[in-house]
Order: sequence, then structure tokens, then C-alpha cells
Amino acid sequence: MCNCIFCKIIQKEIKADIVSETENLIAIRDVNPQAPVHVLVIPKKHIASLNEFEKSDEYLIAEANILARKIAKSEGISESGYRLVLNTNSAAGQSVFHIHWHILGGREMTWPPG
Ligand code: 5GP
Ligand code: ZN
Repeated sequence: MCNCIFCKIIQKEIKADIVSETENLIAIRDVNPQAPVHVLVIPKKHIASLNEFEKSDEYLIAEANILARKIAKSEGISESGYRLVLNTNSAAGQSVFHIHWHILGGREMTWPPG
């Protein structure tokens, strides 16, 4: 049994503010939001990072993007703009080693990111 925090949220052992749930994904509000809208799209399958992502997992990329687009619309940031972020390993700031996409929006984003 996987012991990671997102697996526990997926298994409903730890509470989270769930925005959406599909067969293969869960979307939750980030506990430490970095923007007015900060939602995490998380595959239910435990994959530690993009480095462990396999060809057979590729359907998750399409599903995550489509769910992120849907959430951006329901959160009212489709037209103003939003960013999808996938941090991989420590230099990028990955802190939870269960792959996830951040949806960030509701404010102006700077580039390059910090
Ligand atoms: P990372 O740094 O790995 O790209 O992103 C992990 C994100 O998960 C962080 O933004 C962090 O605030 C969020 N996070 C960590 N633990 C929890 C939790 O227990 N619940 C929720 N909702 N978010 C969490
Ligand atoms: Zn996990």
C-alpha cells in the first residue's frame, strides 16, 4: 500500500477540498495556495514524477489537460489566463513525489517563473 500524502487523499484517508474527480484523476485545492485559484490535478495511479512516467501512462496527460481546462472554466479563469505547472525533482521545487499538475490563475503571472 502506497504511503504518500496524495495516495492517502485519493483513498480518502486524508481530507481535501475536492474540486473534481474522474475515473483516473482527482483535482483538489492546494492547501498552500500561490494564486487566487490553485488547484492540483493528480492521477489516481501513483507515479513519483515525470521521470517515472511511462508510455502506457500517456492517456493521463490528455485527461489531465482536458480536466484542467474544464476546471479553469468553472473557476472563471479561462479567459483571463492560467498556467499549468509540472515540477520535477528538487531543483524545480517538487515536494510531493506523486505526479501532479498545478493549475494557477486569478492573478498576473510573471515570466520567467522563480
Ligand atoms: P510540488 O511542490 O510537489 O510541485 O507541489 C506539491 C503541492 O502540494 C504544494 O503546492 C503543496 O502546498 C501541496 N500540498 C502538500 N500537502 C498537501 C495536502 O495535504 N493537501 C493539499 N490540498 N495540498 C497539499
Ligand atoms: Zn502516491
